[in-house]
Amino acid sequence: MNVIYEPKGRAREYSPLACNLYLGCTHGCKYCYAPACMHKKPDEWHDAARARGENVLKLFEKDCVKLSKTRVDDETRRVLFCFLSDPYQPLENELHLTRQGISIAAKHGIKVDILTKGDARLIEQDLPLMLESQTHLGITLSFAKDATRKEWEPQASTVQSRLRILRKAHDMGIYTWVSMEPVIVPQEALEVIRKAHDYVDFWKIGKLNHNKEIESKIDWVKFRGDATALLNQYECDYYIKEDLRKAC
Ligand code: SF4
Repeated sequence: MNVIYEPKGRAREYSPLACNLYLGCTHGCKYCYAPACMHKKPDEWHDAARARGENVLKLFEKDCVKLSKTRVDDETRRVLFCFLSDPYQPLENELHLTRQGISIAAKHGIKVDILTKGDARLIEQDLPLMLESQTHLGITLSFAKDATRKEWEPQASTVQSRLRILRKAHDMGIYTWVSMEPVIVPQEALEVIRKAHDYVDFWKIGKLNHNKEIESKIDWVKFRGDATALLNQYECDYYIKEDLRKAC
């Protein structure tokens, strides 16, 4: 295939298939792994986003056609937008690659899974399309205080707007999930579960990686125990990522 691929390693726990419609990401998260994966300097990667080539949607459609032909009736694999960028960049307001990608996929019977910490106003415009196409909406959220969020994810959307869009999508009937990773302040992550358990259909709980100094100060056994106790108390569906399981 051209632009749809099967993620390897840790990314596989998120999705069996993925596609990056954009390159670069202006959210500028301090923990971002994408520049290292792409052999770029962080400033270069976070300065601006761009479409992944002028013909990215054509290539995407070709892949959707191939995929639809090889799929069996009970195929459940979704295509995740995206790993190396965020599908709701400010540039999405001009290019609408994500919106068009969801529509193209739906035309060929392929389902999409969104993972974003983008602007709620942008996401909101696509909620009716997500509902119609049975797209799942995933939001990355592990901070409860916006000041902490701003420190680590300076240009991404606020905590409040992420909670708002999750609630709105859930109320409309869209399947919602939260990627709780990286966990940097465990107490804030637990607070997110307390706040959002009513309108999040599924939780993926991870840890922090690639930052030995902070990682070593966190009691991962306690965090996992506290998180699962809360999720069980609220009767939530969840998945504990392998990294966190191993750390325990
Ligand atoms: S949203 Fe994702 S790709 Fe964008 S800067 Fe943050 S971690 Fe990197």
